[in-house]
Amino acid sequence: MPNRGNLIVISGPSGTGKGTICKKLLTMNKNIFYSVSATTRRPRPHEINGREYWFLSKVDFEKMIEENELLEWANVYGNYYGTPSEKIDELRLQGKDVLLEIDTQGALNVMKQVADGIYIFLLPPSLDELEKRIRRRGTETEAVIKRRLDAAAQEIALGTHYNYVIVNRNLSRAVNQLNAIVVAERCRTGRNLEIINKIKNREI
Ligand code: 5GP
Repeated sequence: MPNRGNLIVISGPSGTGKGTICKKLLTMNKNIFYSVSATTRRPRPHEINGREYWFLSKVDFEKMIEENELLEWANVYGNYYGTPSEKIDELRLQGKDVLLEIDTQGALNVMKQVADGIYIFLLPPSLDELEKRIRRRGTETEAVIKRRLDAAAQEIALGTHYNYVIVNRNLSRAVNQLNAIVVAERCRTGRNLEIINKIKNREI
């Protein structure tokens, strides 16, 4: 039996670079599976259904809520976002780590249900820098940008609930820090009791 995989939850204000960092982590570390969320927001250019998100209608999303198919869900900036629970336990039992990239409301909900999750908070170097990054992305309207910046300040206050904090000043440094956390968590004593015993008892 492999060791149970970890549930890695990463949050941070919109525009902090979560998406890019997570994608890089996944190419660097093949034992991690990205949990594709469901959302009712419209796809951005280049986003593909089933890759970045499952893009659903409001009716279909509400059906998933009713049928208890989501580990957590939240209304973020006027759209629903949620984590389908189906594959998570199965993958973890196979020894694979599962990565959730979700907002702070969702993460706080998961914390209540998954005590052994690894909760990582990603920070921008400053709020001014965050604004620049969101504007540079150029995919949001002015009203949406304003709403996201207001939300960012409130979200940052919730960073204290997480196990780890990474400041994204430099992309490759942030990715390396994230990978270091994931690798170190796999080496925790509590996750390696079986191997200790096997080696001690000359079973391997
Ligand atoms: P975006 O629309 O920019 O892709 O994402 C907006 C926010 O929704 C981000 O903070 C992102 O982390 C969050 N988000 C994405 N998927 C989920 C999810 O499944 N659950 C929750 N609670 N938030 C999510």
